[in-house]
Amino acid sequence: MLRDNHNRDINYLRLAVTDRCNLRCFYCMPEQGIDWLSRADLLSWEEMERLCRVLVAHGISKIRITGGEPFVRRNLMPFLEKIAALPGLHELTLTTNGILTAPHIPALKQMGIRSVNLSLDTLDRNRFFAITRRDELPAVMNTLDTLLAHDIAVKINAVVMDGRNTDDILPLTALTERLPVSIRFIEEMPFNGSGTMHSIAWHHGRIMDTIKAAHPGLQKVQDGPYTTSYNYRIPGHQGTVGVIAAYTRSFCGTCNRLRITPQGMLKTCLYDSGVFSLRDLLRSGATDAQLISAIQDAISHRHPTGHEAERQVTHESMAAIGG
Ligand code: SAM
Ligand code: SF4
Repeated sequence: MLRDNHNRDINYLRLAVTDRCNLRCFYCMPEQGIDWLSRADLLSWEEMERLCRVLVAHGISKIRITGGEPFVRRNLMPFLEKIAALPGLHELTLTTNGILTAPHIPALKQMGIRSVNLSLDTLDRNRFFAITRRDELPAVMNTLDTLLAHDIAVKINAVVMDGRNTDDILPLTALTERLPVSIRFIEEMPFNGSGTMHSIAWHHGRIMDTIKAAHPGLQKVQDGPYTTSYNYRIPGHQGTVGVIAAYTRSFCGTCNRLRITPQGMLKTCLYDSGVFSLRDLLRSGATDAQLISAIQDAISHRHPTGHEAERQVTHESMAAIGG
């Protein structure tokens, strides 16, 4: 029901519920953190619920909750329960760093969440500390085990960083032998909150060449219609391994996403700087019809790809966007 000016169906919402986080991944934010939004600047749970309800009534069938770290915002679980129950929503899912997640997994399962994206860039505790500036690898591994024990599908997001974790590409790939997980190596994007990154040394081709050299029998698997990851299986392995060309942007042609940032900016592309403030529109007393009409107008002016949407070097942190 929502279609953009390039004839792409828009049926997937990524909703960032906070910019705060209990890690300080260096590719996402500086060590001291970012200028956190005040509570009044954040969308309230009620405002987010209303936006979800209106969007689901107009064809959004999948919602991903992201952040910052979703589990650091109080009252996430009651919000998820309400969203999970929206008629017409086929999939509710989350992206999490896994630190506070484990105790909530039985409740996530109960509300029908079938898949979770877990961020994990290394299996080495020292490298984990160097990347995230926190010593939390055991908590993340516990979340991984608990998700699998509850039969929740796990996609592992690993950002590949030159000189930081390229030695982890093969050990992370090897996890697919004994675990039914989908590992996706992500090209590093320029959203570290300081505007300092302009190019990448490890683009998708180089990542895949590294995996193929170690596993020449790698087989392509059939990807879904809106996939951003190109996935493969090593014969005999339970899981899959893939790559997300997030920086070189090879998948914009099938992009079906809308993004809402923690402060309620609507983004029609990860690389745009926000199209308009849904929060201001909500707080001005807009009706549901006015909300959806403003969103439809925004997607009628969508850039064809992220290269066109990206106008300048950004100082944004990914935690303020949601990934
Ligand atoms: N805190 C949660 C987490 O880390 O899973 C959710 C939010 S985080 C911003 C969402 C995803 O964006 C994570 O998988 C993270 O690895 C990825 N990400 C953050 N900064 C990135 C960057 N500069 N380049 C590529 N991916 C990035
Ligand atoms: Fe936090 Fe996720 Fe950003 Fe890491 S990537 S600092 S876990 S928001």
